[in-house]
Amino acid sequence: MREKIEEYISNENLMKEIEKLAAKLNEDYKDRNPVFVIILKGAFIFAAELIKRINTPLNVDFMVISSYGDSTRSSGNVRIEEDIRINIENRDVIIVEDIVDTGQTIVKIKEKLSVNNPKSLKLATLLNKPSRRVTEIVPDYSCFEIEDKFVVGFGLDYRQFYRNLPYIGILTEVE
Ligand code: 5GP
Repeated sequence: MREKIEEYISNENLMKEIEKLAAKLNEDYKDRNPVFVIILKGAFIFAAELIKRINTPLNVDFMVISSYGDSTRSSGNVRIEEDIRINIENRDVIIVEDIVDTGQTIVKIKEKLSVNNPKSLKLATLLNKPSRRVTEIVPDYSCFEIEDKFVVGFGLDYRQFYRNLPYIGILTEVE
């Protein structure tokens, strides 16, 4: 099995939308010292581009998630491999995710973080695939709404490859 990748969202457009999102967050979180919780591995490039544009004092922490099953479909089998270390009690928390598909991953993450009683808990995602949702999740901040296609690049992988692409591409498997 080989794969074909077709550019879907250019690096230029990614940067434009990330810039807009950062401007919104700078307004909404002014003087609130937010905590950004980055979901690894997929969100690492998006998070780096976003956070360097935030101009209020902030903290960063990481949560490592793994999902297993089919490589181009969300399986719903989500495991939290590593939890955050910062105390988020009474803090304004922004989860930074690469993509919300069925929403099952983010439901688990929110449940886990809520136990620590943050003051607020919001979700910022680079990509949103609402057509595949099986949960009530609606991202608070989203850069792009996309069709039901399997995408890679800018941090997102296929079998751990393609995270280094500077753009978002649609991946199709070819014989
Ligand atoms: P959900 O639990 O919302 O169905 O899926 C979220 C996770 O599934 C994402 O964090 C990502 O790891 C993976 N995922 C969902 N759709 C895609 C996609 O189109 N491309 C890639 N590379 N991963 C995806």
